[in-house]
Amino acid sequence: MRVLLVEDDADLAKVVLIGLRQEHLAVDHAATVAAAEDHLLTTRYDVVCLDLGLPDGDGLELCRRLRSPNSPELDLQRPERILILTARDAVQHRVAGLDAGADDYLIKPFKIAELAARLRALARRGEPVAGTMTVGDLAVDPVSHHVQRAGQEVNLTGREFAVLLHFCTRPGQVVSAEDLLEHCWDANADAFTGSVRVILSRLRRKLGAPAMIETIKGVGYRLAPDALEET
Ligand code: CA
Repeated sequence: MRVLLVEDDADLAKVVLIGLRQEHLAVDHAATVAAAEDHLLTTRYDVVCLDLGLPDGDGLELCRRLRSPNSPELDLQRPERILILTARDAVQHRVAGLDAGADDYLIKPFKIAELAARLRALARRGEPVAGTMTVGDLAVDPVSHHVQRAGQEVNLTGREFAVLLHFCTRPGQVVSAEDLLEHCWDANADAFTGSVRVILSRLRRKLGAPAMIETIKGVGYRLAPDALEET
């Protein structure tokens, strides 16, 4: 899951970035509306976490622009979900945030664990599977990060887990290397299509036989359809 954190409090941003990366999320950071727009020009985020009081503008206004169907700024990539992150806890501020098109609202101060849980819940909306995901003999728990194949524990790095989870939420679909880079790597990571190949080869080795991830030459990768058997 690729997340953009828009927050001008440097200390809070640092804590959130470290915490969410420990949860295996790919997170970019912007401290201003202008910096957020720069990120949104090139990346379609799964979730944007948006502070309201920003040095060069109002997060609510950015939220409204991203959600307006008639927004003239079509050059910005609209995120899947928007979560408002703010100390403004008055009821009217919450209502204004939701009316501006936000999907969820979290009041500061908050625990990273709660933010991570809300992000996972937002990403799951519209997905048929919640809790442990099962694909063939593979079981993936998005909360505890435990992965098992045929009952055997599989130990994955954060990046390997993020890539596997991305496949599991798109069963049977072909996923391109660019799509994996956009959703599983953040802007700080040394991201290039070669790194996708490296992670996939490690992931395949760790998942063992029979092979679950197939390469569709020139297009991308997918979880082997033979292995698909959702429960
Ligand atoms: Ca602020």
